[in-house]
Amino acid sequence: MKNNIVFFSGGLASFAVAEYVKNLGGNTVLYFADTLWEDEDLYRFIYEVSDKLELPMLIHSKGITPPQLMVQKKFLANNRVGICSKELKMKVAADYLKDGIVPAIEKWHNKHFLKHEDFINNATLFFGIGFMEQHREGPIRANWEKHGFSVEFPLIEHVIDTEELLKNYAIRRPRLYDMQFAHNNCKGRCVKAGSGHFKNLLMKDEKTFIELMEQEIVLSEYVRYCKQPSIKNGKQKDYMFKDVYEFVSTGEKSEKIKHILSISEYLSSSRRLFGEDSKGNPIKKPYTFMKNKSLYDLEKEPVQCDMWDIGGCSCFIDYEDEGESA
Ligand code: SF4
Repeated sequence: MKNNIVFFSGGLASFAVAEYVKNLGGNTVLYFADTLWEDEDLYRFIYEVSDKLELPMLIHSKGITPPQLMVQKKFLANNRVGICSKELKMKVAADYLKDGIVPAIEKWHNKHFLKHEDFINNATLFFGIGFMEQHREGPIRANWEKHGFSVEFPLIEHVIDTEELLKNYAIRRPRLYDMQFAHNNCKGRCVKAGSGHFKNLLMKDEKTFIELMEQEIVLSEYVRYCKQPSIKNGKQKDYMFKDVYEFVSTGEKSEKIKHILSISEYLSSSRRLFGEDSKGNPIKKPYTFMKNKSLYDLEKEPVQCDMWDIGGCSCFIDYEDEGESA
């Protein structure tokens, strides 16, 4: 029996692919890599899809969220370098499917629908990219085919009406689409997004926007702090790690974190220096998710700004070239 693995992100495109593959028959598995930073309603959606399509779902996670990863790596992911999609989605999937490495968290849902245990051998991998993203096809193929997998992109050839499918299966569409987000990733917080996307987050879910804005400020200061040679080479203890990790994990604000946030206006200007880095350059530039402005600056701009600059993550499919990106 043919093995099929659907890279299931919790978005509508991957749902359409899941339904398409189900109708092909075979031993099909929905594969979801959890960033642990998703919208509550995404989890409702993926379980509902697994239940109603009667397909088993394998959930894997590295066990940390994107902000926790950024603290560990001392690096602010941004719309040019999405370390979170690479480490928490693509690498988790690649390590497992290519090398059998099981990540920190593994969960099955509806495993009784699995038709036989060996679902990886000679599997065909299905991705939810459409003809508008056809330029991604080559790198994705190159990345997986050399490891013996076949790769298919049903939405390049087939236009599937997802609204009709949702109706047929009586599944409620993920609420982020109703909030006018272009995708259902990371609760509208995708660090690879553009200003239109973040402005939408501010308008539709101000609490989440403010939390993200505060994380950006604190992470930026932490990355700047860690650039100092004495911290980098370990001669001086990293006195911020614990507070910053706690903050991005629980929202708990220690006195240090409160202080950073209380002077955020001052910190957001590049006037403030943080000493010199190992190359002797002044450490003055705040780090931001978007290349040209911080969320702090964006919050103050009129709503109309760059509403068309949506951006966002292409998790699972962000292979840059024919090299081993994952
Ligand atoms: S959706 Fe965005 S924030 Fe989430 S893992 Fe992907 S790149 Fe990172």
